[in-house]
Amino acid sequence: MTIDLHSFYTPTSFERIKTLADSKDTPFVVIDTHTIDKQYSELKAGFPIADIFYAMKANPAPEILTLLRDKGASFDVASIYELDKLLAIGDVSSEKISYGNTIKKTKDIRYFYDKGVRLFASDSEADIRNIAKEAPGSQIYLRILTEGSQTADWPLSRKFGCHTDMAMDLLILARDLGLVPYGVSFHVGSQQRDIGAWDEAIGKVKIIFERLKEEDNIQLQMINMGGGFPANYLSRTNDLATYAEEINRFLEEDFNDKLPRIILEPGRSLIANAGILVSEVVLISRKSNTALNRWVFTDVGKFSGLIETLDEAIKYPIYTEKSGTEEDAIIAGPTCDSADIMYETHKYGLPLDLAIGDRLYWLSTGAYTTTYSAIEFNGFPPLASYYV
Ligand SMILES: *Cc1c(COP(=O)(O)O)cnc(C)c1O
Repeated sequence: MTIDLHSFYTPTSFERIKTLADSKDTPFVVIDTHTIDKQYSELKAGFPIADIFYAMKANPAPEILTLLRDKGASFDVASIYELDKLLAIGDVSSEKISYGNTIKKTKDIRYFYDKGVRLFASDSEADIRNIAKEAPGSQIYLRILTEGSQTADWPLSRKFGCHTDMAMDLLILARDLGLVPYGVSFHVGSQQRDIGAWDEAIGKVKIIFERLKEEDNIQLQMINMGGGFPANYLSRTNDLATYAEEINRFLEEDFNDKLPRIILEPGRSLIANAGILVSEVVLISRKSNTALNRWVFTDVGKFSGLIETLDEAIKYPIYTEKSGTEEDAIIAGPTCDSADIMYETHKYGLPLDLAIGDRLYWLSTGAYTTTYSAIEFNGFPPLASYYV
């Protein structure tokens, strides 16, 4: 698999990453914050009217939070631990924070409320009753179920959201409990390759806005269109500008000139392309004298940052400095767990002259790697990360 690095990184960005990488022991990820800066500006240019709430779970490093804070971002926070991490960087006003997880403990709701947060996501009656009690008077947005799990590489449906009929009932309940029925949210699935998924979701939101206005005199004020915007992996997608153009058109078609407040919650699309995970080949072997495929074992695996290779969902481009004839390989991690195989069905071609000790560069690994890195499974430490 020959990778054209320039379709993933500018020469200066790659140089910055490589210079630092050459001085460190593997495995680790290097994240070029300049790329994040650029991605943020690009998203903002595509959606000038939107408020961007960075989904911290993609990568909560203080270097990233500080950069995004200084660029004017808000933050989608899913736990008290994330909230503490965010507040630790300082100068983040509570209006710039939403508690976006629909699954939360009552004492955690109170914790957010005590820190000044007044914007909460929900998708169930029990949660709304808890919010009414622990965070009285707060703004509520209801997350709805969406389609699109077939075309998202990392679906986020099913577990989150409720049917539109229930969403309307719950927004009425929220009002009756003294909360502010504020808006509707959805997430069409992470790395969503079908832009039409937003069209369908926005159509559902429109119905909720209209019905609540007509039948219950509730004027909703906000649409949270979630994340799902693409990063660059092996399966290419349309570029961000095309997503923006199309999605803005869907909004205009459904809401005309009466556009409510628009919130976006990008994670992957802001961060992934900024990172390169650097690993080393630990062992290369064949399972029989006639086996056609090599097994290439690296010092990084599913338990040290590459969990999104589960079911081979995310196919990271892999770059090596060897350039000999390629042969298909199975790529696996270093732990004593046979689930720790990254790619077996999708065969990555790797050069035949690839040797033990050579480095493998996993591209577009800035998001959802360090955060997923398990503590000490099999004694392997969490993934190290550096910022340039
Ligand atoms: C994970 C998540 C996001 C970020 O999604 P990406 O596809 O990484 O942009 C946004 N909103 C919520 C509620 C999430 O859970």
